[in-house]
Amino acid sequence: MRLVLLAPPGAGKGTQGARLAEIFGVPHIATGDLLREHVTRGTEIGQRIGAQLDDGELVSDDLVLDMVREAITAPEADAGYILDGYPRTMKQAIEGSAQAEALGKGAQVAVYLAADEDELERRLLQRAQEQGRGDDNEQVIRRRLQTYRRETSPVIDYYRERGLLVEVDGMQPIEAVTRDIVEKVKVLRPEESTI
Ligand code: AMP
Repeated sequence: MRLVLLAPPGAGKGTQGARLAEIFGVPHIATGDLLREHVTRGTEIGQRIGAQLDDGELVSDDLVLDMVREAITAPEADAGYILDGYPRTMKQAIEGSAQAEALGKGAQVAVYLAADEDELERRLLQRAQEQGRGDDNEQVIRRRLQTYRRETSPVIDYYRERGLLVEVDGMQPIEAVTRDIVEKVKVLRPEESTI
């Protein structure tokens, strides 16, 4: 199962990504987590991108494309992957798809978690309080939603046009969202119906 998870910030990508990884028995690869890890470890990349993460800006496409290529070709990803938080731009979608397909690792399905933006803003502010994520203050939250609308929402149409998109109501309870995703993925990819 090779699946990408698309959703506005705060719509539950991380939670659903982890659940799907368990269900399908593949790694959960979250670009945001990989990037934050660089910052925490103080790597050269981490030092370069720290401010961008704090400001809620996207980091460079080339950096993300390299990172994702490495992750999806690692032995742990032999059976597939759940990619969370990627692609975030049309360049990542187009170049990343070409790159992954050339390696026989192209995404087979894109799951879009649709969500109400006012509710998302509320969820993000709540998460900021609970987890103390540095990139979760009000101004940054607004910027992240704007960036999503401008850069990431066209990616949804890209997958829709390629017949790979399944859309799920991301505002339902966690279990219902997971159940809907699994059901819809089975319709698109009946060979996964044994799960
Ligand atoms: P996330 O945990 O997915 O919300 O990502 C946290 C932050 O990491 C984002 O606000 C961006 O600064 C950065 N980031 C994560 N994924 C990507 C990506 N695919 N392209 C560019 N920047 C990203």
